[in-house]
Amino acid sequence: MKIATVLGARPQFIKAAAVSRAIREHNLSSDINIDELIIHTGQHFERRMSELFFEEMQIPSPDYHLGINSMDHGAMTGRMLEGIESILLKEKPEYVLVYGDTTSTLAGALAAKKLSIKVAHIEAGLRSFNMMMPEEINRVITDRISDILCCPTQTAVENLKKEGFDNFGCKIFKTGDVMYDSVLFYSEHSSLKSDIMDRTGLSDMDFVLCTVHRAENTDDIGRLYTIVEALGEIASEIEAVFPVHPRTRNILNSSGLIGKLGKVRLIEPVGYFDMIELMKNTRCVLTDSGGLQKEAFFFAKPCIVLRDQTEWIELLDSGSNRLAGAERDVILECYNSFKPLFIGNPSADLKSGPGLYGNGKASYEIVRCLIGSGDSDKTHLESQI
Ligand code: UDP
Repeated sequence: MKIATVLGARPQFIKAAAVSRAIREHNLSSDINIDELIIHTGQHFERRMSELFFEEMQIPSPDYHLGINSMDHGAMTGRMLEGIESILLKEKPEYVLVYGDTTSTLAGALAAKKLSIKVAHIEAGLRSFNMMMPEEINRVITDRISDILCCPTQTAVENLKKEGFDNFGCKIFKTGDVMYDSVLFYSEHSSLKSDIMDRTGLSDMDFVLCTVHRAENTDDIGRLYTIVEALGEIASEIEAVFPVHPRTRNILNSSGLIGKLGKVRLIEPVGYFDMIELMKNTRCVLTDSGGLQKEAFFFAKPCIVLRDQTEWIELLDSGSNRLAGAERDVILECYNSFKPLFIGNPSADLKSGPGLYGNGKASYEIVRCLIGSGDSDKTHLESQI
């Protein structure tokens, strides 16, 4: 059975690492061999945003690299569609596997569907209900044209049901979240593989970790300004480390806001082992990243979400995450409200770990979905919820 995985952005490498490993393990013990072909669109191209993850996480090298990046949405989607289509015509996979909500995801799904190749969407059913976000557009369209929808959470399953996906002849599975699989697997090795704490001189439990990269924040200077103000203020009382996404760095530089960050320590984007170590040792996370919101929860760290909506609403209910948006005062109020958790054992009052996101075996479940659905009637609805 041949499948083609289409990826291109950092969070997809982290998700694909878990599924690729599950495929390799499956192949060792099954009569049905899965031949995985990897198509890298090139959306993220800097070494620290791409190659490093393939090396650290032992993801097989891409079979194809399209080198498409740094364009407007339309041009990039179009170029990717064209490039992926010609590979699919040649390789004729049975499935195309796409992850999450990026331009690469949309282009991969669309190219496959137009060629009548089945699409499996990992991280299906997530919604922010904000159609101004490019990610929301990508995920809604990808879900609609997918044949297999692998949902990470019960909320995601319910979103699809509310939108009438029961009537669409696709298959909906609640598999759990592959990012939880990755955290469990790689956190066993991260302390040996990473020297970030020594390299930065950061002290255990004595810093906060920030990331900002969403267009809704970086492309709106007003929002970026107030986020920067809040981070600068927090950094005046505790170390704040900020691995900066290349796009954010460009905008911080060109807008001059970089000078307003005060004592915030800007560092280059880090690899996954480094990120896990930062996460393990931080007091608190401030982020607009989808992945970091969950990883903070997995490591039982309070998390301030620098967005107006989140797809991971169960984390707000759990009390571990708070939605702050981009207002300086609200961010600071959230930060202050989490301070009691910083004393003693900061993790003790937060619910964390398994449950909401599966049992750490989502990637194996996804492989089972692919194998199990290989022969079945595409129009038959089978909801394994
Ligand atoms: N990440 C990383 N190094 C960094 C920043 C993020 O390894 O410098 C990881 C992070 O741990 C998470 C993933 O990248 O697993 C999230 O990616 P990103 O924030 O770019 O995208 P999103 O999750 O918002 O789609």
